[in-house]
Amino acid sequence: MANILVFINTPTTQPGKAQRELLTLAHRLGEPVVVFGAPATDETVAAIGSLGAGAVYAPSTSLDATLIAGEAALVAGVARTVEAAAVLLPNTADGKEIAARVGIKLSSGVITDAVDVADDLTVTKSVLAGGYTVSARATHGTPVITVKPNSVEPAEATATSPALTNVEVTDAGPAATVASTEDKPASGRPALQDARIVVSGGRGLDGDFTPVEELADALGAAVGASRAATDAGWIEHSYQVGQTGKTVSPQLYICAGISGAIQHKAGMQTSQVIVAVNSDEDAPIFEIADFGIVGDVRTVLPQAAAEIKRRQG
Ligand SMILES: Cc1cc2nc3c(=O)[nH]c(=O)nc-3n(C[C@H](O)[C@H](O)[C@H](O)COP(=O)(O)OP(=O)(O)OC[C@H]3O[C@@H](n4cnc5c(N)ncnc54)[C@H](O)[C@@H]3O)c2cc1C
Repeated sequence: MANILVFINTPTTQPGKAQRELLTLAHRLGEPVVVFGAPATDETVAAIGSLGAGAVYAPSTSLDATLIAGEAALVAGVARTVEAAAVLLPNTADGKEIAARVGIKLSSGVITDAVDVADDLTVTKSVLAGGYTVSARATHGTPVITVKPNSVEPAEATATSPALTNVEVTDAGPAATVASTEDKPASGRPALQDARIVVSGGRGLDGDFTPVEELADALGAAVGASRAATDAGWIEHSYQVGQTGKTVSPQLYICAGISGAIQHKAGMQTSQVIVAVNSDEDAPIFEIADFGIVGDVRTVLPQAAAEIKRRQG
């Protein structure tokens, strides 16, 4: 069976949904072989074995100081070693940059924004701000594919005890130096790009994101924002959804007080169900919304949060 190499940037004892989705997809296509972006422990190898990984490769020392160059050298080297039929990576900014470098190292085609991969490695992806769905196929080398979260339903796999191979990464090349890093305080909410539900707010919030945060917490959702909201300083830029922000594709996207500019739609248009709350019945967001509520966010959102909590409790 063909080896399908899966890149897991951050090994963990509790692999997240996006990681489980990549393993599920790899199982469908062949034999999953995992390459970690950081040194492994017995526990992280066992955790990935519980998802059915056939073998695990990991750097023998931290690649933090090499930035993306180290991960790319590692993934390309392991892809050659295991003669991978395809390489799957997460569709994050890092994942895409590593994919690009791996593509160069392997002289292979790179496809980003995949939402599905068929048995013959034909990739389904959305393009032009989600306006079109296309089929694409790498015509050269080992296809290097970044897969969007929430594209595959994670499936149970037979647990394995994968062998760990520690790899010394020597050809990372010159890299920038990381002077310092600062961990972001955890919000307790799911990560924006992995979340099944996202509640986003825009200029219509008029500076107060409380209704968005309360509805998000009632739903166990991530919080997002339009650029108008992040530019105004109402919420950090890391929450921005859109062309120059994050691309999300959750099962449910609720946008509150967001007009629906093309640059915002570019980041959320592939959401499965879109609910829009806007006081202007002619707002363009209603053109792509599955459900629309014409009303004031300060009234509609608290009512929705209260009703959800009432039904939960
Ligand atoms: C190169 C470039 C890149 C960009 N990248 C991005 C990007 O990544 N993401 C992004 O979002 N934008 C991006 N933009 C900006 C984009 O063009 C829009 O300006 C922005 O999305 C507008 O944000 P908004 O919908 O919150 O604000 P507005 O367009 O001002 O809309 C606010 C909406 O709130 C409604 N509203 C007002 N009060 C209430 C209320 N009380 N209750 C309910 N509704 C109310 C209004 O009817 C209106 O529809 C980019 C622009 C450029 C030029």
